[in-house]
Amino acid sequence: MAQHFIHGAWQPAASGETLPVIDPSTGEVFDTLARGDARDVDRAVAAARAALRGPWGRMTATERGRILLRMGALMLERAEELAQLEARDTGKPLSQARNDITVAARYCEFYGGAADKLHGAQIPYLADYHVVVLREPYGVTAHILPWNYPAQMFGRSVVPALAMGNAAVLKPSEDACLTPLAFCDIATQAGLPAGALNVVTGLGEEAGAALTAHRDIDFVTFTGSPEVGTLVQKAAAERTLKVVLELGGKSPHIVFDDADLERCATFVIKAITQNAGQTCSAGSRLLVQRSVYERFVGLVAQKFAASSAGTPQQDRDCGPLINAAQQQRVQGFIRRAKDSGIPVLAEGRIADGVHPGGFYVAPTLFGPVPRDHQLACDEVFGPVLAAIPFDDEADAIALANATDFGLIAAVWTRDGGRQTRVAKAMHCGQVYINAYGAGGGVELPFGGVKRSGHGREKGFMALEEFCTVKTVVQYHGQ
Ligand code: NAD
Repeated sequence: MAQHFIHGAWQPAASGETLPVIDPSTGEVFDTLARGDARDVDRAVAAARAALRGPWGRMTATERGRILLRMGALMLERAEELAQLEARDTGKPLSQARNDITVAARYCEFYGGAADKLHGAQIPYLADYHVVVLREPYGVTAHILPWNYPAQMFGRSVVPALAMGNAAVLKPSEDACLTPLAFCDIATQAGLPAGALNVVTGLGEEAGAALTAHRDIDFVTFTGSPEVGTLVQKAAAERTLKVVLELGGKSPHIVFDDADLERCATFVIKAITQNAGQTCSAGSRLLVQRSVYERFVGLVAQKFAASSAGTPQQDRDCGPLINAAQQQRVQGFIRRAKDSGIPVLAEGRIADGVHPGGFYVAPTLFGPVPRDHQLACDEVFGPVLAAIPFDDEADAIALANATDFGLIAAVWTRDGGRQTRVAKAMHCGQVYINAYGAGGGVELPFGGVKRSGHGREKGFMALEEFCTVKTVVQYHGQ
């Protein structure tokens, strides 16, 4: 039975209640979680506050960095066991889960190495004055995370907060939280003082809402749906707290007629089947210049038809979706698109031998999708790709920017001028040129505009997000 991790110790829910942990590849319960509420959140926030007054708050940046580096090394030592856990909890193919653990460790390496490298400044001012700018932790940071990449999300959100000396309270998703819990033992083994990291499991509307409404947190970072992101921002606004929101996307590939179509097609398949399309930066819109539309979409359809969903151990292109509700939601998008008469260009397979209770959906390619159809505008969060033709560069730019989201985009062309023009014209947080990195790149600042959220994670910029600046102005006399 999984419990909360508070002040360095495993603790049951104050209510004594639990939630089931379901294997998405079978639909069967295989463990239970503590069902946290406001009382558990209160204990976790108090433990974090106390840690800031204790050994954690007094540590140098270099010491914090060393602990994170040790955490990364321990994750790699236990990588196979952690990958098996991640795959069971999320249903993802084993090779993707293995990659996710390596990436979680990479966050520890990156931020462990960077912890003592973000410095303040000295500002020349009036003759008799000395001015320094200090970078300081916010204090207690709250982290609310989704279910799609629990291990990576821990690395991306919690690790930079710790690197800057904050004390973290994490509420992972009720649908997948076993690896973040396993990381707590690793943190202890690496020497992280009690209270610097606390995890409360439970439902969003109970434990999550209690955390965002808590009077003693200093910062909230949320990764998840735009709907809940709005609730979190409203709760934080009550106390004028800083909020970083990483929300959804409807990210386009923009494929011009001079692109390397074969290379592009391979990336297109991976960008939508990875994690069964449950990736905020999934490449879910395929915008193709009309002059090569038939040829290119035919190439993608061939590869799509060869793709399949299977169990973690079968290690196919994708696994099942996370739960029955998500499976039904994605099936609803597929049904409505078919009912609207949008042609299905290709369907992948569900592998033989999968459990009938698993939440599988076969990868599906639709096209041409009308520009105002929900499949062209809304986030599906499943392995469903919408192909849409465009006429020229101006049309491509307008179409790519024509959703409420703005997370990432990819431009596929050999024309150097066009690569730069289109990249500059994208209203989003990251642009790839002749490449695509759904979820990739620990080193690369990442985040959105519009309904995709605000603030930046990953790279050095995450460290700037997780610290506040204090200017000290000293009159030192003649
Ligand atoms: P979700 O919004 O339903 O849940 C995310 C987290 O919020 C969970 O831990 C949940 O328990 C919690 N939560 C739910 N209601 C809450 C409330 N009222 N108060 C506080 N917390 C609450 O999202 P999800 O279904 O887990 O994930 C899918 C969504 O996340 C998609 O829209 C996807 O695009 C987005 N996502 C974005 C990124 C990114 O970096 N931009 C990354 C991963 C996922």
